[in-house]
Amino acid sequence: LPEQEAFDIEYWLLEEAKLARLPRQKALAGKVALITGGAGGIGTATARRLMGEGACAVICDIDKEALAEAEAELAREFGKDVVRGLWVDVTKEEAVASLFAEAARAFGGLDICVSNAGIASAAPIEETTLALWQRNMDILSTGYFLISREAFRLMKAQGIGGSIVFVASKNALVASAGASAYCTAKASEVQLARCLALEGAPHQIRANVVNPDAVLRGSRIWKGEWGTARAASYKTDSDGLEEVYRERSLLKLSVYPEDIAEGIAFFASSISAKSTGNVLNVDAGHAPSFTR
Ligand code: NAD
Repeated sequence: LPEQEAFDIEYWLLEEAKLARLPRQKALAGKVALITGGAGGIGTATARRLMGEGACAVICDIDKEALAEAEAELAREFGKDVVRGLWVDVTKEEAVASLFAEAARAFGGLDICVSNAGIASAAPIEETTLALWQRNMDILSTGYFLISREAFRLMKAQGIGGSIVFVASKNALVASAGASAYCTAKASEVQLARCLALEGAPHQIRANVVNPDAVLRGSRIWKGEWGTARAASYKTDSDGLEEVYRERSLLKLSVYPEDIAEGIAFFASSISAKSTGNVLNVDAGHAPSFTR
């Protein structure tokens, strides 16, 4: 697409998104959502999107400083009574259990759980140390397990159903060179969600997955070794990377945290009441269904 046309389309999409948020009955009024990695790009955007629909949000993260900033930002936008920031390391069983106990106390229950906290690390297989492999498994695989198990237990005990949403990755389905630990851990999240969907169905607990493609803006994982390695593989710098991904997509559009939040909001709300065990790629058309 010519540059101007691409810009116009992006502008139009933003305007559409704004219109969609005009006053109407809020889809998540009275609901409580917990979002892990809530201090990060996709996590904060998700909290904002769900709160915009009337939900109360518990955002949790391992990064205390960033968490406090995100909590303050959301409190300014929506009021301090509807957001709570709680520290957690998602790899620690006891910390995760206390998190859910505190979250349930904060707003009287839990309806939506978004498992999103993550890292990204890059290394060719021969240079993948056991420690690197384990770190990916701990945060992305075990972390998603611990978080969703506690959410499941709480939702089942409440007896009113619920929605669990995993933020996995395009790399859950598509391999990337130099990222075997990340890809393998992300793939396990999809299968875990399907198992949750099976076991949750009798209790109206749904589990679905949103797979982002590269979301550079606002994301801290791109600022580290992951971004550096990806940029080097495309012979560009981090500014050039966004363009690389945009050009690679079918729609010639960049994917932003707000786009991922939109997919999450879909699975979080009753609009998707009849979807469980599903995967939504939010990638401007760069999914594994195409060969290019
Ligand atoms: P981000 O780094 O901005 O946010 C991730 C957050 O997770 C950070 O705030 C970090 O502190 C937190 N976190 C990391 N380890 C944790 C732990 N042990 N316990 C609690 N919190 C922890 O990254 P993002 O882009 O917002 O990524 C969110 C999710 O989306 C991740 O699971 C990531 O793998 C996935 N994803 C991102 C992209 C992308 O391009 N940004 C693409 C595909 C998938």
